[in-house]
Amino acid sequence: MGAAPAVVLLSGGLDSATVLAIAREEGFATHALSFDYGQRHDRELDSARRVAQALGAARHLVLRLDLRAIGGSALTADIPVPQGRTVEAMGAGIPVTYVPARNTIFLSHAMAWAEVLECQDIFIGVNALDYSGYPDCRLEFIEAFERLGNLATRAGVEGRTRLQIHAPLIRLTKAEIIARGAALGVDYGLTWSCYAPRPDGLACGRCDSCLLRAKGFREAGLRDPVPSAP
Ligand SMILES: [Zn+2]
Repeated sequence: MGAAPAVVLLSGGLDSATVLAIAREEGFATHALSFDYGQRHDRELDSARRVAQALGAARHLVLRLDLRAIGGSALTADIPVPQGRTVEAMGAGIPVTYVPARNTIFLSHAMAWAEVLECQDIFIGVNALDYSGYPDCRLEFIEAFERLGNLATRAGVEGRTRLQIHAPLIRLTKAEIIARGAALGVDYGLTWSCYAPRPDGLACGRCDSCLLRAKGFREAGLRDPVPSAP
């Protein structure tokens, strides 16, 4: 018998790239799942494709979902992305970059694919420490979704599989995530974090995601291979 399959949500950012490497390290045949959801820039999908290939995903599925038709987020509608905020300000509320119910939507698709693959392990790169603003990045949410998954599927009800949602980054700082991934050979030069890339293609260096990424590399004592605007 070959390696057990696992579904790994892969955005193209550094957290999910690290999670893909962790799932592979744990011996799973990784089935990466990305979404073309109408995000304002498709740069991160290119990154997801390159990361999936570099980390030897058994398969990489990109599903189309038009969340832009729903809108309600700076990532899917013409709402300005906040720039130059302090980490304290980022932690003070739910930011406009929150995409309504995104992780519930993504995990639901992961659960469906897992059922077809007859696999019981789903990996997601949520992180509650260095980004506390999103309600669907909390451990309580992950635990609740795991219970839902075991109620909601034929595989769960028939007892053939016991769905488990792995969130290996949930209690790590960004610096710890980067150190872990670097040790596992993740090429962070393939990843993309910026919410608002500039017309010249550089990361903006000022959105929440760029600032947290920069802080993480700085604290990990590593150089970010992805250049950003000065
Ligand atoms: Zn940025």
